[in-house]
Order: sequence, then structure tokens, then C-alpha cells
Amino acid sequence: MKTAVYPALDFLKEELSLLEQEGRRKPLRILSTAQLPVSIIDGKEVINLSSNNYLGLAAHPKLKEAAKKAVDQYGVGPAAVRPIIGTQTIHKRLEERLARFKGTPAATLLTSGFTTNVAVVQTLLDNENDLLVSDELNHASIIDGGRLSRAKRFVYPHRNIKALEEILEKNAAGTRRRMIVTDGVFSMDGDVAPLPEILKTAEKFDAVLMVDDAHATGVMGPNGRGTPSHFGLTEKIPIQIGTLSKAVAAVGGYVASTKEMQEILYHKARPFLFTSSPPASVAASCLAALDILETEPSRIERLWKNAEFFKGELKKMGFDTGASETPITPVIVGDTDKARKFEGMLFAEGVFALSIVFPTVARGRERLRTIVSSEHTQEHLNQALSAFRKTGRALGLI
Ligand SMILES: *Cc1c(COP(=O)(O)O)cnc(C)c1O
Repeated sequence: MKTAVYPALDFLKEELSLLEQEGRRKPLRILSTAQLPVSIIDGKEVINLSSNNYLGLAAHPKLKEAAKKAVDQYGVGPAAVRPIIGTQTIHKRLEERLARFKGTPAATLLTSGFTTNVAVVQTLLDNENDLLVSDELNHASIIDGGRLSRAKRFVYPHRNIKALEEILEKNAAGTRRRMIVTDGVFSMDGDVAPLPEILKTAEKFDAVLMVDDAHATGVMGPNGRGTPSHFGLTEKIPIQIGTLSKAVAAVGGYVASTKEMQEILYHKARPFLFTSSPPASVAASCLAALDILETEPSRIERLWKNAEFFKGELKKMGFDTGASETPITPVIVGDTDKARKFEGMLFAEGVFALSIVFPTVARGRERLRTIVSSEHTQEHLNQALSAFRKTGRALGLI
């Protein structure tokens, strides 16, 4: 068939050339293997330092087996949104299991971490007299949830409790509901939210604290239960968001909270009501992942050992790894062109680390973002480090 041409969309070509001028236009990297420590990306075998597969579960035999069995029992897709007939027994089992894992009365499953944040913020803050206060480095889905809510919105400088207090001091009076939202682990910098201090502020102003633990689940706290568990605050933090798309290695999102939260979301959350649930096979893989988290803490230990080694060696070489305290280790470059070049040179050396530039991070904070997994061997790490040394020197970064 002849390929269609649509002059009405020519404005997109102009937008693309703008992206090009800013050095922001780039092709998608294509993975042709499972998400492995050494993967084939764009046809080349490289050490993969850009996956959220923290614990190597994305290709784990138990998760694959669980998915296959579930396909046989439940078929492939839900063929309905959850409130119609898209809720299968395995979805309810996963919700119950997630609640037990997180230590909360209930958990509610949604399509993704993104839609979960939107669902909770938009549903709870549906009045002009509501107030949302959010860390400036929170995930885009929290920002979008805020935009879709009716709340008055304020952003506080990253991890700055004093500024958070001042915002509440000035704006809390006369509001109906107040919510403070923070990532547990920040996705670009790998630093951790000061939850005990944020909680104190939340209590002082009678605000609900919501923590997005997308990068913390499977990573932080005993058995990877997340940052509230890491700080011993599970009982005090009423809303924990999680994703099933990172360390849990499947796809989906959930909120671990109360039974009432679940029922309200079932009735009112647009991203619950109007988009289909993850398929049963995905839920089955998640259940298998939770089994592994609960029975194989050695994976999490290996992850941290690898992360600490890798970060320590990068620092010794003289790289700026920012404020990272977790396996997310940025290597700050501070320039878009240089960050792209760095990514390209590393790739030629057999290492994949994604460059991240404005607007995902602030100008001047352009970087490569690395995440090692529990499944990288010492040899992988050494090889990656020598590629960083070679290319970092060539670029004058160290
Ligand atoms: C990745 C991420 C999400 C989105 O999760 P998905 O399941 O991929 O939609 C939400 N919040 C944070 C902090 C994240 O890092």
C-alpha cells in the first residue's frame, strides 16, 4: 500500500527540528533480549546500567513460569476495565498480598505507577479548598495528578523541610484537606526523602503524607518493603504508592493504604474506572516476585553491595555522583552535548548508561544515570568502571 502523507501535521516537523537544535532529539534504544545485566541493545552486546530491574527478576524463571500458567488459566488480557469485569481472582489475590507485604490494611491495584499517582491525588484533592504540597523533584505523574486535581498547589525546594513548613504556615489555614507528597527515593538523583522530618511537619499541620516508593520497593527496608518500613514509619504514613514495573519487574501500580481508600478509588478514581487492569499473567509474575522478595533477602544484599562498590569506585575516580544514597547513581556532567557524547562513547566501549538532560533534570545538572543490579558480576562492574575511566578522561570529566 502507498504510504500516506499528511501535510496537516507538518508542524510536527518544525517541532522536531527545534528538538534537534537543542540537542534533545534522539532515537529510542531498542532492546532485543530480556532485561539482563548484559543485554543486546541496538544490536550490540553491552553491560546494561540503565534498567530498573534492580533484582534481576525481569527474566527470572519463577516469574516467567507464573506468567505462563496464568495465561493458561485466565487468558491473555482483561478485556474490560476493573469495575466492569476486568477484575479476576488473581488481581484480588495480588491486592491482598501487596497489603500484607507493605503492612497496610489494603492495597489497590492500578494499571501503572503513573496512573496510581494520578488516581490518588486527583481523587482525594477534588476541591478548591484542598492543598497539595510537593517536593520539586517529585515524579511527573505526581505533578500531573496535581494538575488534574482541584487543589491549590505548591512546590517546595528539594528536601527542604523549612520551606515546606513555611508553605504550610502561610497556606494551610482555612483549607479542607492538606496533602504532602514526596518520592521515597528520588528517581534521578537516588537520594532519600527525610520521611521522619516530613512526617513531623505533616502531623503539625494535620496533613496527609503520601510517599511514592516506585524506586524504593524491592530496594529499601527489610525485604524491600520500602522507605516507610526503612524508617520504621509504616504505621504513620497513610498512603504508600508503589509500582510493579521496577524491582518487581512486571508492570502495574498500587496504593497501599486503608480499605476505605480502596473503596473510594474503586468508585471514584478515573484511572481506575476508565482503563484496563494489568493482565492476569502480570499479576501472577508479581506474586512470584513478592515470594522472592520475602524468601531471598540475599538478592537485596547483593544489590546494595554492587551499588556501594560501583558508586565508591566512580567517586574515587573523581566523578560527581551527586547526593545518591541508593543504587541510582547519577554521574553529573552538567552539559547536554557532553552528556550525549559520554553516553555514545561508553556505548562504543560496551556499556549502556542513559544520558538525561533538561527538562527531565535541571539545566547544569545533565547526567548519565546508572543503576547496577544484584545480578551484575564483579567482572561486569570492573569492565564498566574501566570504560567510565577511559571515556571520562577523554571528555575531561576526571
Ligand atoms: C517510574 C516511576 C513512576 C511510574 O511508574 P510506572 O509503573 O512505570 O508507571 C512513578 N513514580 C516514580 C517516582 C517513578 O520513578
